[in-house]
Amino acid sequence: MTPPVDLPKHGPSVIAGVIQRLSVSQLKRHKLCPRAWFFQKVMRVPEPSTGAQQVGTEGHAQLEHFLSTGEDVLGTFARAGAHLLPTPGADLLVEQELDGNPPLTAGCIPFTGFIDLVDARRLASDGVLRITDHKFTSNVASNAASAEQLADADTEPGLQMVGYGAWALSQVERFPGLRTLELEHLYYQTRGQRLAASVVATVPVEHVAHEWKAKVEPQVEVMKEHAQAARASDVPANYGPACGKYGGCPFMAKCLTGENKTMSLRDKLLNKVSESAPLTVAAVERDAPELPAVLPPDAPTPAPVQTAPEVAQATEQPAPKRRGRPRKAAEPEQPKGEMRVLFVDCIPTVFDGPKPEPLTSYVDTMHRKVAEAGGVDDVRFAGGDSVLGFGKWRGALAMAARAEPPCKGHYFVLGLAQSELTQVIVEALEPTFDIVIRGIR
Ligand code: SF4
Repeated sequence: MTPPVDLPKHGPSVIAGVIQRLSVSQLKRHKLCPRAWFFQKVMRVPEPSTGAQQVGTEGHAQLEHFLSTGEDVLGTFARAGAHLLPTPGADLLVEQELDGNPPLTAGCIPFTGFIDLVDARRLASDGVLRITDHKFTSNVASNAASAEQLADADTEPGLQMVGYGAWALSQVERFPGLRTLELEHLYYQTRGQRLAASVVATVPVEHVAHEWKAKVEPQVEVMKEHAQAARASDVPANYGPACGKYGGCPFMAKCLTGENKTMSLRDKLLNKVSESAPLTVAAVERDAPELPAVLPPDAPTPAPVQTAPEVAQATEQPAPKRRGRPRKAAEPEQPKGEMRVLFVDCIPTVFDGPKPEPLTSYVDTMHRKVAEAGGVDDVRFAGGDSVLGFGKWRGALAMAARAEPPCKGHYFVLGLAQSELTQVIVEALEPTFDIVIRGIR
């Protein structure tokens, strides 16, 4: 077993198949898809930052500055949740590092990371500690976790919050008399109406201790095994909704090209794609040099995975400098002529650029490919005995669209609400467009 040791903060977290340190983000990634975690932390395949991440980073920086100093630097998204925040003050633990002696561990592996906000104002009087994680999301109603999920380490959001709660439990001297934890996700909506919502799970400390022992400790043991895999294809893949979450898995191209036996439908889809795709993510990846499964400590940084451009989102005002975790570098701007633009339920009457084309033929083509691969005429009517049945066609269609996005250019779709096929494809492709413009009725 690897004993807890003092580790450099920015070194690799996995060395030669041995996990050196963990974070709740790693737990979440592994829970979502073990293979995606392997790509990220063992193979250390770089991930491009997305427009959504940029919005979240700016919002977090504003909240950190506001809660620490009281100076109102909140942008429009964060401001919608100002009434849900505690009064700013130096006693709030903002961007709290998961530090401490002894550190929080699972399977003898120490955890590192940062918590957005720890509020200990009711600790002395009521034994209550509130732990808050700010979440910037496109749609609060559809993306917010429930209070039950926040308390359950078998869920992705619960893993995160139980992890933070477990850290608080491990800091006995810092939080004396701790009896109850309020685990909060504070959501800020970034599209449409400006609104915010708080979801709180109130749990006794015994609950968190039990979740950590019964669910997180065993997961870490599984992660140790997965870290020693020789190839990504030896690590279980969680095909399905996980592939499309958070704007699409950044490792999809590697995942698909590395798979050769277990996913016949995927193979068929991929073959269909490679027959006709002029230059897709998958095609680029096939030519890329193969990365070793586990990088030695002195290995050169692998070449970035080439993916389609990320969706441009509304930007916030420049954020104040953050004290805690390091920020990701912004992506370089794309030349205007090489942009992907999508008009949804609207067409420009005057436009400074190429004339938009309907996305209809692309939708039909992708539908035909998926239907053929699944052996059905229309994916929407695939029976329960089909690999596309029980709604699985949606994931397959989304995967095919991401693997073979339309060429760069300007497109439009009309009547989105009336076409389920188009809805699935537009949702899958949104992150690959530089600009998405929606008509408002
Ligand atoms: S594409 Fe899907 S199955 Fe493959 S690594 Fe990503 S999330 Fe996992």
